[in-house]
Amino acid sequence: MFKEILGKKYDEYLGFIRRQMIKDQIVARGVKDPLVLAAMEKVCRHCFVTEDMVSRAYEDYPLPIAREQTISQPYIVALMSELLALKGGERVLEIGTGSGYQTAVLAELAAETYTVEIFPDLAELARARLEKLGCGKIKFKTGDGAEGWAEHAPYDAIIVTCAAKELPLALPAQLKIGGRLVIPAGEGAQELKLLTKTAAGLEEKTICAVRFVPLLKSVKSEQ
Ligand code: SAH
Repeated sequence: MFKEILGKKYDEYLGFIRRQMIKDQIVARGVKDPLVLAAMEKVCRHCFVTEDMVSRAYEDYPLPIAREQTISQPYIVALMSELLALKGGERVLEIGTGSGYQTAVLAELAAETYTVEIFPDLAELARARLEKLGCGKIKFKTGDGAEGWAEHAPYDAIIVTCAAKELPLALPAQLKIGGRLVIPAGEGAQELKLLTKTAAGLEEKTICAVRFVPLLKSVKSEQ
């Protein structure tokens, strides 16, 4: 409704509250990487939510999307992106495309972005949306992300946007030495983990408590 009445002014307003979101929710909590902050400013989160959620798109929460899934909280998207330490030339893999919001942020930060989603309809919606927004360089796959995407491995960084009870071993196997894997671990109470692959094995660091939807093993194709 506001969109119809305000037209271009509404987009300007959304841009304004997006910059406000970056200041109040992201910078205030300690995210510093200027590339991440620029990507968060560029990607319009309101373009990734349903029509009825547009006015809430810059609030400090995850929001519901289809299939009982969620678009992640902006701060968590920024934090996880920062942990990947991308400089612009990397190849990155995302598990859990969902709305495509985190995917769009990754595409701003890396040279090549690959993303895997288990629900075919979510994957298709995200693909069409990202194409319309002009986010190039993204390759989509439908399937179980626990298997990674071996064809394009090794990756400089892998981000998992759903919580795994146990670490899917295919993922670190598809990382380069020195590569980073960011993953919410656990059931119920979860912790965000940063794993770095070294020649000697995986180094693990616990970042903070988080709450993500679970990594699913299989889904019904249509409901
Ligand atoms: N990055 C998304 C977050 C979506 S929520 C965003 O910003 O919108 C997590 C997503 O992971 C959901 O879309 C869910 O369907 C997907 N998912 C769950 N289990 C999966 C699996 N085994 N393989 C791939 N995707 C999975």
